[in-house]
Amino acid sequence: MPIATVNPANGETLKTFEALGSAEIEHRLATADTTFREYRTTAFGERARLLNRAADLLDEDQQDIARTMTTEMGKPIKAARAEAAKCAKAMRWYAANAEGLLADEHPPADDVRDAGASRAYVHYRPLGPVLAVMPWNFPLWQVVRFAAPALMAGNVGLLKHASNVPQTAMYLEGLFRRAGFPPGCFQTLLVGAGAVESILRDRRVVAATLTGSEPAGRSVASIAGDEVKHTVLELGGSDPFLVLPSADIPQAARTAVTARVQNNGQSCIAAKRFIVHTDVYDEFAERFTAGMNDLTVGDPQQETTDVGPLSSEQGRADLEELVDDAVHQGATALCGGSRPTGLGAELERGWFYTPTVLSGITPAMRIHREETFGPVATLYRVEDLDEAVNLANDSPFGLSSNVWTRDADESRRCVRDLQAGGVFFNGMTASHPALPFGGVKRSGYGRELAGHGIREFCNATTVWYG
Ligand code: NAP
Repeated sequence: MPIATVNPANGETLKTFEALGSAEIEHRLATADTTFREYRTTAFGERARLLNRAADLLDEDQQDIARTMTTEMGKPIKAARAEAAKCAKAMRWYAANAEGLLADEHPPADDVRDAGASRAYVHYRPLGPVLAVMPWNFPLWQVVRFAAPALMAGNVGLLKHASNVPQTAMYLEGLFRRAGFPPGCFQTLLVGAGAVESILRDRRVVAATLTGSEPAGRSVASIAGDEVKHTVLELGGSDPFLVLPSADIPQAARTAVTARVQNNGQSCIAAKRFIVHTDVYDEFAERFTAGMNDLTVGDPQQETTDVGPLSSEQGRADLEELVDDAVHQGATALCGGSRPTGLGAELERGWFYTPTVLSGITPAMRIHREETFGPVATLYRVEDLDEAVNLANDSPFGLSSNVWTRDADESRRCVRDLQAGGVFFNGMTASHPALPFGGVKRSGYGRELAGHGIREFCNATTVWYG
């Protein structure tokens, strides 16, 4: 994949970039290594000062960086601004909380005596340069939710961003530099996926985090395993959205639309499979389909646009294949199921797809098991909670889940039985710095955000005095 900015709204290539050569990569790895030796000894207060400065700069830059993101990957401009604001908030949150999250842990005095110690505790130390392989769909947020805790812990970061968001990737390196972080603290490596293996095998890179597809995760995890280096994987999702009879159906249907089409449908935590109790199925299906039909599809730079293009021609082709396979096997498109028309000559060269609701899904269809990365929802009718939970779990993925119910027993049952890294009741899944984020099954392992995220790349050191 060339490293380039290509506007997905019209297919125009705006800027291409040369990948770094081996001498430049070597220079950056050496800089990361030497910077880490000093940076690891800095005080939390100093790191927090720099990270708060980065947050202020990001707020000042919000409109410009939002336009860059929208140009590179097509998200609606209002969502791009919200993403930048969320990143600044996460930086401030880690600046304020990292020291407490990484405070020494003291076991009970009896246990310390039992361990034969006069004093013993756990002390968190940074690991070193961490490689972050990141996707294009939230090109600022995915990086910041790694970088903010990593920098506060005293680690340094090396970013290999997706090849279609190079300007956002370079903006991030510049942001941390302008904030005053030493040059080796956060560096962008403009390289293709083929360069990842040798970087990850380099002795100076101590760990890796990858957000992206399952094949990419499998590759990075096997190389890291071979090198005995720690990894965190945030992979795909096909989150269920259960609607049970006690739910507020109009509210559930409105939220379902947002949950499915956020980020033009290209979010790992978008609700993708809508599993609805038969008693409320017809009302939910009608309201949900009407809501999907009402969305404004068009130029993502316009404030009024709800759904922009998919990020690549291949992404749209993959989505079309899944829909066509389902329809050929008997699924019904309650709305959408094709490319939009009437957008005008320029936008019709872009990679748009109409918001789509499919019913009549069977396990034989590819869409039943694969992730739909675009504005396409699958709708299932179930007879009871058992069937809903079984269907929700009948997926290789386990990122998050959504349940609409006002029944306490049903809620407890879902917390106990849904195979996912999150269970969100009467709302849609969203990440927040104070709550851990990650999945089970093929959605990956490890956690980002909160205390769990910052400790992933720390050496939990046992300190023992005789
Ligand atoms: P992708 O193709 O896996 O790309 C993600 C990153 O991995 C890019 O930087 C890419 O580089 C790199 N990459 C690809 N193949 C690689 C390999 N074999 N070895 C090393 N690096 C490799 O993913 P995508 O299609 O852009 O992103 C969408 C996927 O990400 C979806 O499945 C989505 O659900 C998932 N995602 C998960 C989360 C989460 O938090 N769980 C969040 C967002 C997205 P190039 O661009 O140079 O190929």
